[in-house]
Amino acid sequence: MLVAMDVLHEAATGRRLTPEEAVGLYRTPLFALAAAADAVRRQRTDPEVVTYLIDRNINYSNVCSVGCSFCGFYRTRRQDDAYVLGYDDISDKVRELEEVGGTRILMQGGVNRYLPMEWYVELLRFLKERHPEVRVEAFSPEEIKGLSELTGMTSREVLVELQAAGLDGLPGGGGEILVDDVRHARHVAPGRISSDDWIAIMAEAQALGLYTTATMVIGFGETPEQRVASMMRIRDQQDRALATHGNGFSAFISWTLQTQGVRIAGKVPGAGAHEYLQNVAVSRLLLDNVPNFQASWPTMGYKVAQTALSFGCNDFGSTMLEENVVSQAGARHRSTPEREIVRQIVDAGYRPAQRDSLYGVVRYPDVDVLLAVPEAAAPGAAAD
Ligand code: SF4
Repeated sequence: MLVAMDVLHEAATGRRLTPEEAVGLYRTPLFALAAAADAVRRQRTDPEVVTYLIDRNINYSNVCSVGCSFCGFYRTRRQDDAYVLGYDDISDKVRELEEVGGTRILMQGGVNRYLPMEWYVELLRFLKERHPEVRVEAFSPEEIKGLSELTGMTSREVLVELQAAGLDGLPGGGGEILVDDVRHARHVAPGRISSDDWIAIMAEAQALGLYTTATMVIGFGETPEQRVASMMRIRDQQDRALATHGNGFSAFISWTLQTQGVRIAGKVPGAGAHEYLQNVAVSRLLLDNVPNFQASWPTMGYKVAQTALSFGCNDFGSTMLEENVVSQAGARHRSTPEREIVRQIVDAGYRPAQRDSLYGVVRYPDVDVLLAVPEAAAPGAAAD
């Protein structure tokens, strides 16, 4: 049997790993793991370039009935600060994004059983009419399941109707660990969508041609075997999707559990930067059919995110204007202007490229011009 270092050597050439081999990678030295992941990243994406997206998060409602213990965002309908945004308010936010050259909104909320299906359909039509150039990637498998239960429609029927109204993509929120023993543990999220349902709804979205991503959160006390099992759900689905219709997950994004001020604090071990980087590298090596890997600056901070660019990531994420969900569980940064993202990429030794949400390059910003803008002219610029 090959020992872990031999496996690592072969993994660096791009050979597909077995789940057992991937578990063994968690025992290899961190920087040997990084070198292998970086070698694969360089084979599969432009080695000189790191991409980023100008986008805006819009959380249309914080009312949710699922009650995940790691979530500081949700409210019950009767709480004073529960809200549902109006269409015009959402449109104003999209207009602000357009003014800074943004190309997509990521719109998510909770599972709000008081909002009828028509509210979502009309919202999508309204946004497409007012902002035809902006891609709308919205909701998550959890919200689609909630709408299915609310309406009696199948999840596929819900997706078809939303897509007809203007939905361009289904973000990968709620992936966490795709192992029900972990995600449904009493102290985590017993009411959370199951792994099977999450994968099934993503599969339906992909078959309809919607853009999708996959996410993963570590730090629930899961074992390396469970992390690998979760990644294997993604790899297997990606194999099926690419073989049947050629539209799969365009990116994989992982981060560590944020526990500040939420009920799960103190009940799980969490995960630090070392574990995050290790997991990023293992995912790049195991998920050989996913093209793009995103570093997570909002949860890990700029410096760890920069380091992740040497552990298999080829993308620095997005500006995330107005992120509210992970920031309310203690994530370090809420939003970042383009200028700051470009600075981080340049400082890490790469050429920055603004991309669209399909990972096509929109432009290579003039770094000298952008970074010459005085700090005062870049409101909201955050320091690490
Ligand atoms: S993570 Fe999502 S599903 Fe869970 S409580 Fe928060 S808003 Fe609701």
